[in-house]
Amino acid sequence: MGMELMEKIVALAKRRGFIYPGSEIYGGFGGFWDYGPVGIELKNNIKKAWWKDMVYSRDDVVGLDAAIIMNPTVWDKSGHLKAFGDPLVECKICHRRFRADNEEELKKHGSEHDGKTDFTEEKTFNLMTEVLLGTTEPKEKAYLRGEITQGVFVNFKNVVDSNRVKIPFGIAQIGKAFRNEITPGNFTFRSREFEQMELEYFIKPDEEEGKKTFEFWKEERMNWYLRYGMNKDKLRFREHEPDKRAHYAREAFDIEFEAPFGSPRGEAGWSEFEGIHHRGDYDLKNHNLTYKDMDEEYTPWVIETSGGVDRAALFFLIDAFKEEGERTFLKLNPQLAPYKAAVFPLLANKEDLVKKAREVFDTLKSDFYVAWDDRGNIGKRYASQDEIGTPWCVTIDFQTLEDDTVTVRDRDTTKQERVAVDKVIQYIKNKLA
Ligand code: ATP
Repeated sequence: MGMELMEKIVALAKRRGFIYPGSEIYGGFGGFWDYGPVGIELKNNIKKAWWKDMVYSRDDVVGLDAAIIMNPTVWDKSGHLKAFGDPLVECKICHRRFRADNEEELKKHGSEHDGKTDFTEEKTFNLMTEVLLGTTEPKEKAYLRGEITQGVFVNFKNVVDSNRVKIPFGIAQIGKAFRNEITPGNFTFRSREFEQMELEYFIKPDEEEGKKTFEFWKEERMNWYLRYGMNKDKLRFREHEPDKRAHYAREAFDIEFEAPFGSPRGEAGWSEFEGIHHRGDYDLKNHNLTYKDMDEEYTPWVIETSGGVDRAALFFLIDAFKEEGERTFLKLNPQLAPYKAAVFPLLANKEDLVKKAREVFDTLKSDFYVAWDDRGNIGKRYASQDEIGTPWCVTIDFQTLEDDTVTVRDRDTTKQERVAVDKVIQYIKNKLA
C-alpha cells in the first residue's frame, strides 16, 4: 500500500510538473532532481512562508545568504572532515555499498544472493562533496557545503558588527547543501543536492536559558507544520539518544513524518525532515568567536532548527494527496498551493467569453499567481487543477456576460458559488486569510 501510494505520487509529480528526475534525457543522475513549473512554486511558497514567520514576523532574527563553497579550513574547524559521515558496509559478493544502520535494506539485499549475506566491517564514510578549483595543477581541493549552518557561524562577527543585534538573536538562512549520500533514494527524500532552511539562535551560555529556548523552538517548529496543514497524526518528535547524536549536539529532537517508505533506521514510515539541535558553544568555540556584551565577553550557545525544504515539500505533497472515487486532488494549504486560482472561459471558441475571462485573469493576476486554461472541457480542466492543488477555479460563462458574476468552484468540496466579478479578489483574499 505504502509503495503504491509513493508510485502514484512520483507519477503525479512528473505528469503535472512538480518534480522530474535530474538530467532525465541522459538516463538521470542518482540523487539529483529538478523542480518543474508547479514544483518550484510549491517550494518557493514553503520558503516564503518560512521566511515570513521566522524573520519578518520577529524582531530578533535577521537573514543571511552565505557562499556554498567556503575556505576548506571552515570544514576542518567545524569537525566535518573528521566526523561528518555515515556508517558504511560493502557486500563482499557484489561490492554494492550500503548504510550499515539500514537493517531493512541489508536484509533485502540478502535475498538477492539466495539469502546469503557477507558484508565487510563497518567503516565511516565521509559525506562531504569534493570540488577542484583553480587553473594550476594540482588544483585546489574545496568542498560543496554539507550543511548551510557553517556559513552562519563564520559570519557571526560580521553580523554582530554590522547590525543592531543583541543576544538573544537569530540568523536565518535558506540554501543548497550537498552530501555524497551512500544510498540516495525514496524519491527526493535522500538526495545528493538539497535545500535547507535553518535558524541559528544565539543565547547566553546558561543551562536554564538553553532548556527554555530549546523547548520554545521545538514547539514552534512543530506548530509551524501544523499551521500549514500537515496532519497531526502523521507527525511526531523523536529524541536522539546521547550516543546517536551528531558530533556537535548536546540535545537533539527530530520532527518526523510517517512516510509511505521506511526510515533509514528501518523503523516503518517515520522519517526525519527537521532537526532541533542544542549545539552549545561547539561551533563558535571551534571558530574562535566570542561575543561582547557591555563588559562581559563569552562564547554564546546556539539552538538550531534545521529543516529540509525538499523533504518538507515531499511530505506536504504526500499529506495532501487525496483520492475520492475517480477524483484525485491535492489538499494543499492555499498558502502553499502553486496557483491560488485558475480562470477558465466556458468555451474557448466564443470570443466574448474569452475576452471577459482574460479581463478577470488580468485583474486576479495583479494579486495572485493564477493559471489560465481554455483547453478541453471544464471537467478536464477541473481535474488538472485538482491534481496540482489549485484551491479555486473561476469560470466565465454566458451568465457572466449578462450579470457580471462568475462561478467559483472549491477544490475540496467541489461546490460552486456565484460571485460578482468585482468581488472575486476579496473572496479569495478572505479565504486565504
Ligand atoms: P538523515 O539522518 O536522514 O541522513 P540528518 O540527521 O543527517 O538526516 P541533518 O544533518 O540534521 O540531517 O540535516 C537537517 C535537515 O536537512 C534534515 O532534517 C533534512 O530535512 C535535510 N536533509 C539532510 N540530508 C538530506 C538529504 N540527503 N536529502 C534531502 N534532505 C536532506
